[in-house]
Amino acid sequence: MAITSAAIGTWDYNPSRQALQCDAHCRRLFGLPPELDEDQHGVFISAVHPEDREQVLRAIRWALVPESGGHYSLEYRTIGLHDRRERWLSSQGRAYFDDAKQPVRFIGTVLDITQRKRAEASIRLLSEASRILSEQLEKPEDILRRVARLAVSSFSTYCIMSVVQEDGGLRRLAIAHRDVEKEDDLRETERFGPGPEGKSPLLEVVRSGTAMLVSDFSPELRRRYAMSPEHLDVMNMLDAQSLMNVPMRVRGKSIGLMILASAAPQRRFDKEDVALAQELASRVAVALENIRLYQEARQAVGLRDEFLSIASHELKTPLTSLKLQHELIRRSLNTECQSSVGPRLDAAIRQIDRLSTLMNSLLDVSRISSGHLRLEPVDMDLTQLAREVLERLSEMFSQAACSVVFTGPEPIRGRWDALRLDQVLVNLLSNAAKYGAGRPVVVNVYSRGTQAFLSVRDDGIGIAPKDVLRLFNRFERAVSERHYGGLGLGLYISKQIIEAMGGDIHVESEPGRGSTFTLVLPSSSLDAPGR
Ligand code: ADP
Repeated sequence: MAITSAAIGTWDYNPSRQALQCDAHCRRLFGLPPELDEDQHGVFISAVHPEDREQVLRAIRWALVPESGGHYSLEYRTIGLHDRRERWLSSQGRAYFDDAKQPVRFIGTVLDITQRKRAEASIRLLSEASRILSEQLEKPEDILRRVARLAVSSFSTYCIMSVVQEDGGLRRLAIAHRDVEKEDDLRETERFGPGPEGKSPLLEVVRSGTAMLVSDFSPELRRRYAMSPEHLDVMNMLDAQSLMNVPMRVRGKSIGLMILASAAPQRRFDKEDVALAQELASRVAVALENIRLYQEARQAVGLRDEFLSIASHELKTPLTSLKLQHELIRRSLNTECQSSVGPRLDAAIRQIDRLSTLMNSLLDVSRISSGHLRLEPVDMDLTQLAREVLERLSEMFSQAACSVVFTGPEPIRGRWDALRLDQVLVNLLSNAAKYGAGRPVVVNVYSRGTQAFLSVRDDGIGIAPKDVLRLFNRFERAVSERHYGGLGLGLYISKQIIEAMGGDIHVESEPGRGSTFTLVLPSSSLDAPGR
């Protein structure tokens, strides 16, 4: 009862008489009709898969010598003698010896472990596929080629991968055959592929999104599918016994097709294989979709940068001339007009300046993203630059009601791009005035070893820790547009400039308690790499 309920087959072998006795289940596992009782050792051995036969014979020989202790335990494949099915068996046995150390009896069991082996192989296949798909492959054909190779090293003899084109037709991107020499034959089949108009079972699979299983690809079916006698010849050469056509689907749409074929008569595909192939196909589909989205996003970013660059150039020209015109008008005003129109004209010019600054920021962004930000390093003194910039911005600070404390005791010299550093300082100081809540701002310039430092500290609104890193990215802001104007580009540009000089910029801040931005620059003699 135990043996029957555990679905175990048993065998009993007498080595000296070479007589074998198997029970009905054991015969079934070797693909023999259960009623057949001419149990012969040789018959059973011939049912063992050719690739495993040597290993089985070796294990039997070893079990039959006393040194082995008579133990016998192994897993191997059989190809059913009558039903031609492939099975995985686990066999356990024990040999017994007489006093002369001659084997007298060898008995054991066989258990069908095909399901377990298939499940293990499926997990291996899918995890290997996931590994391949997580690599940064940029071209769909690279992905498909590698997955096709993986499929033929596992459960199929050959594999054809295609993608669906805009016109609904299929374009082949990869093929693989377990026997590489047959890949030319496989390539041949493309000539007979369906056109977009053609009524082909493959296109039907794509359209319906339902996988198709041909577990027995009989000669008659081959004839029916063949487009021409030539096509039939190629099919016969490839000799598929069983086929699966599986759509690659993502977000309810078929974006590709995977054809898997088995040329081994004992390994015909079944529903479980279809489920595995579908899982594989959907993972491939997600990877292909990701590549497409990534490329689209890259293109969109490219277009945005291009637009930014053209728009900022185009807008800058009229702005420059507008400013010139205003200045000419101001110069030609007589004293009476000076007092009535003058202040308004000044206000207009200030707005034009503001617009120019914004335009320049946009131009810088496009320069940075196209790699055209050039630096012109000169020998200069950071303390002096800071002093000059502070002087120039004194009006801005008094409008913001911020006092400024500056310490920069000695000349701190280095080779930096003075105009670009000026731009960074203006940005940090403007931010300190803008977000400093009218409290004092402290600016320090100092050096340590081979590095020069400039810090700007304010007692203003501060920055939440979660925002700190992202503020150095393009268009990132941590304040509402209603309260504070700005494009969110200043810190991004500053960071790019400072990094191009071989330096760094960082911030320490606490919400409500102010922020300290610090520039670190390699001081003196360093020729910063231009960008
Ligand atoms: P913008 O000031 O135009 O928004 P920036 O790139 O200069 O652009 O600054 C990005 C964001 O960083 C600001 O929107 C603000 O949220 C934050 N920020 C910058 N400097 C300070 C500062 N001194 N105190 C508080 N927040 C700041």
